[in-house]
Amino acid sequence: MARRRRKRKNESGFEIILGLILFFVLISSSGTKIFRTLLTSFFTGLAYIAVFAAIGFSAIWLLKKVLQKQGSAQKLTLVVLQKMDWRRYEIVCLEYFKAKGYKAEFTKTGADGGIDIILKKSGNADKELVTYVQCKAWSQRVDVKPVRELYGVMAADNIKHGLFMSVSDFTADAEKFAEGKELKLITGSKLLKSIALLPKEQQEKITKAGMQGDYKTPSCASCDVKMVLRTSNKAGNLGSQFWGCKNFPRCKFILKIKASAITKPKPRYF
Ligand SMILES: [Zn+2]
Repeated sequence: MARRRRKRKNESGFEIILGLILFFVLISSSGTKIFRTLLTSFFTGLAYIAVFAAIGFSAIWLLKKVLQKQGSAQKLTLVVLQKMDWRRYEIVCLEYFKAKGYKAEFTKTGADGGIDIILKKSGNADKELVTYVQCKAWSQRVDVKPVRELYGVMAADNIKHGLFMSVSDFTADAEKFAEGKELKLITGSKLLKSIALLPKEQQEKITKAGMQGDYKTPSCASCDVKMVLRTSNKAGNLGSQFWGCKNFPRCKFILKIKASAITKPKPRYF
C-alpha cells in the first residue's frame, strides 16, 4: 500500500512539473505579450496587497498611539490639580485618605466650619484617632489666617490632629504657625508625591475620581451643583465674567474665574 501511495505521489509530482513545463511552453509559444501581461497583473496584485497591508498596519499603529495618548492624558499633575474644581480637589483628597486606610467623610456642604473632611483611624485602645482636614483649591499661597482658623476649630472640638491641604503651597507665616503643632500643611506637589507611592490601582482610582468628566467647572459651595459662566451687568464690573450658581436668584453664591495663577477664587457673595 505504502509503495503504491509513494508511487502515486511521485506520479502527481511529475504531473505538476509536466503541467508547468507545458504552461510555460504555451505561454512562450503564444508570444511574450501574454506572458508579460500575466506577470504584470501578478505583480500589480502583489503591490495592491502590500499597499493595503501598509495602510492597515499604519491605521492600527495610529489608533494605538491615540489610545495611549488618551490614557496618558488622564494623569494627575500639579497643573491639573490647580485647574480643578475645588469640589473635585476635595474628592481627590478624600479618595487619597481612603486609600491610606482612613475612614474619611465630608462635612456637610455649606456648613464648612473651617473643616471639609473628618478622618478616623482606630487607635491603640479602642479610641478612634480623629483628624480634621481643611482643603483649599486656591491658586494663591495659603496664608496664616485660614491655618489659624483650622487650629481654632481643632482646639474648640478638642481634636489633636489637623491637616491643611492646599493645591499650591503656604506662606512662611503659615508654616511658622504650624511648626511644632500636630497640624500638617500639605502642598499640592506633596499630595501628588504621596499618591504616586500608592499601589497602581489606588492611583488610578484617585485619578478617575478627580478627572472623570468635567472636572474644571467649579461647583456651588451652597448647592453642590456645577456653576455657570455669567456676565456682569453691574456698573462697576460691566461685561466681566464670573461663575454664578444655577439656582440664582435663590442662591447668590459666585466665584471669580481662575484667570491666572494670581487670581484668588475666594468665594464671595453679592
Ligand atoms: Zn448655589
